[in-house]
Amino acid sequence: MLIESVLSDLKDLIIQSLPENVHITQIEFEGPEIALYSKNPKILLESREIVKEIAKKIRKRIVIRSDPSVRLPQEETKKKIMELCPEEAGITSISFDENVGEVIIEAKKPGLVIGRGGITLKQITESVLWRPSVVRTPPLTSNMVLKLRHALKQESEKRKKILKTIGMRIHRPIFLKDEYVRLTALGGFREVGRSAILIQTAKSSVLIDCGINVGSSSSSNIYPYLNINEFNIEELDAVIVSHAHLDHHGMVPFLYKYGYEGPIYCTKPTRNLMTLLQLDYLDVSEREGKLLPYGQKDVKNAVLHTIPLDFGEVTDIAPDIRLTLHNAGHILGSSIVHLHIGDGLYNLAYTGDFKYAKTRLLEPAATSFPRLETLIIESTYGAPKDSMPSRRESEKQLANVINKTIRNNGKVLIPVLAVGRAQELLIIIEEYMRRGLIDEVPVYIDGLISEATAIHTTHPEYLSRDLREMIFHQGMNPFLSEFFVQVDNTAVRSDIIEGDPCIIMATSGMLNGGPSVEYFRQLAPDPQNTLIFVSYQVEGTLGRQIQKGWRDIPMRVNHNRTVAVHVKMQVITNEGFSGHSSRQQIINFIRKVDPKPERIITCHGENAKCTNLASSIHKMLRIETRAPQNLETIRLK
Ligand SMILES: [Zn+2]
Repeated sequence: MLIESVLSDLKDLIIQSLPENVHITQIEFEGPEIALYSKNPKILLESREIVKEIAKKIRKRIVIRSDPSVRLPQEETKKKIMELCPEEAGITSISFDENVGEVIIEAKKPGLVIGRGGITLKQITESVLWRPSVVRTPPLTSNMVLKLRHALKQESEKRKKILKTIGMRIHRPIFLKDEYVRLTALGGFREVGRSAILIQTAKSSVLIDCGINVGSSSSSNIYPYLNINEFNIEELDAVIVSHAHLDHHGMVPFLYKYGYEGPIYCTKPTRNLMTLLQLDYLDVSEREGKLLPYGQKDVKNAVLHTIPLDFGEVTDIAPDIRLTLHNAGHILGSSIVHLHIGDGLYNLAYTGDFKYAKTRLLEPAATSFPRLETLIIESTYGAPKDSMPSRRESEKQLANVINKTIRNNGKVLIPVLAVGRAQELLIIIEEYMRRGLIDEVPVYIDGLISEATAIHTTHPEYLSRDLREMIFHQGMNPFLSEFFVQVDNTAVRSDIIEGDPCIIMATSGMLNGGPSVEYFRQLAPDPQNTLIFVSYQVEGTLGRQIQKGWRDIPMRVNHNRTVAVHVKMQVITNEGFSGHSSRQQIINFIRKVDPKPERIITCHGENAKCTNLASSIHKMLRIETRAPQNLETIRLK
C-alpha cells in the first residue's frame, strides 16, 4: 500500500499548487509520466508555466488530459480539425482514443497540422479539448506501421492499465540506503551477436538489449545467458533497446513469454522496425523448421509494453534511474543509451552499434552527455587493421564495379540487412543513376527491404540533415525513385535471374536465409556476375565463408536435396558503407566524448578486437579499460 500513499501525497501536492477552477477529476500514473485529467484544461494549456512549475517541484513529467465530460463530440471535433488545418496538410484519417482523450490525426504533412511554433496544434487542442497526437501518413505504405497503429488503438484500454502499473513500479518508494552499481555481461561480450547487458543497483535492475545470435548454428551460443542467478525476471524494472537489429532485440518477446510485465524503452522507429524484424524472424525460423523461442502473441505483448522516447527526453525508468537516448548514427532510430543513477551517484553510457561519421542516411553519433563515468563501447571494427575506405572512394568503387558488371552483361547481387545498409545504398544508387554515373538498369529490391524503407519514410525527422532538406524543401524523396522495382513473388525472381543485366538488393545481408541466398545459388556459377558485400559478415554465416575464400559450397534445394555450388562470380567486399565506426572513428569518438569517462568497457567485437581495442585505448588515453567476457560482473560503483 506504500505506493498508494506516494500517489496520494503527490496528488495533494499537485492539487494544492493548482488554481481551484482547474477542476482536476483524476490524477494517474501513465508510465513514467503523471496524467492530470481536468474539467477546465484550458487554464493549464494557456498558462504552461504553472504546469512547468509543478513538474519541477515533483520532478516528474506531466501530461494534461481533459475530463471526458468537456470533450467536444467526435463528429464536431473532426469538422473543427479540418477547418483549422490547411488542405495541403493532407489529413488522411482522424480517430479517437477515448480512454485517454486523444485524437489521432494522420496527415501527409504533419508539420502543417502542428503549424509554426505549434500554433495550429494549440488552436486544435483549445477548441476541441481532445489531446491531439499527430502522426505521418508515409508516402510509401508500411503495412507494419498500419498494423501497429491499429493494434495500439484496439488495445488502448489494456495499454492504459499497463502504463498505470508501470508508473506505480517506477515511482515506488525506496528505503534502502545501500548504494552500488554493477554490470553483468549476459551476451555480446568478446563476440558479435546476442547483445545483453544487465545493470543492477541496490534498488533496481535494468536490461539493455536482449539479442539473438543470427549467425549461430548451435543452440549453445544463440541466446544471451538469461538463466543465471543474477538475472531475475520478476525484479526487472525496464528493458532498453538500443536499435532494431536482431542481435540487439531478438529475444525481447521471450521475456514476456516468461512473465516479464514491465516496459521497453526505445525510439519510435526502433519499435516499428524491431516488431517487423521479430515477426520476420519467427516466419523464417518456422519455414526452416527451427525451434521458436516465442510466438507472435509475445511480440504483440512487447509492443503494448513499449514506451517510445525521443532523443534527449529524460525519463524516470526506475526509482533511482533516469534514461536518456541520444543519436547513435548507426541505423534509423539507433540510440546511445545514457543512464543517470541515483541522485548524482553514477552515470554510464552504452554506445550500442554506432557510427561516428556522417552517412547519407544519418548524422554522426552524439558525443556530449551531462555526466559520464563509464562508457561501454562496441568494437566490431576495433582491430588495428580495421581501416575503412572513405565514403567517396567506396561510392566510386561501387559505381565502377556495377558499371563493369552491367557492361559485361552480368548481374550485381548485393546482400543487405533490411534495415540500414539497404537504405544507405538506395540513396547512393539513386543519386548516381540520376546523374548518369551508374548505367540505368532495373534495381530489384527483394525481401523485407521495401517494408523497412517505408518505415524510414514514416520517420523522416530521424534522417540526416541533407536528406531532410531534400525531402522537405526540394520535394525529392530518393526512396520513391522509379529506378527501384519491388519484387513480391517468387515467379518474378526467376525472370530476374534469367533476364537482362540488373542490380539486385536482397535480404538477408549475410546470406543466412532469405531471398539473397536463392539469388546467390543461381548467380554464383556465372563469372560475369558480381557479389558485393557491404556489411559485416558474422562468423558462421555463408557470407563469412565466401569472404574467407570458400568456392565450393554445398547448398540445400527444396529442403531435402543438397547440391554443390561452384562460385565463379566475382566476390567483392566494400566495407566503406558500414554503419559501424572504423577503428579510427571509435578512437576519434572516445577523444571527443564530453565529459571524458573514467572507465571504458569494450563489447560487440570478436575476442581479439575487444581486447586489443581495450588495451590500445588504455595506452593512448590513460583511462581504465576492460574487455569482460560473457558472464563476468563488474562493480562500477
Ligand atoms: Zn546493428
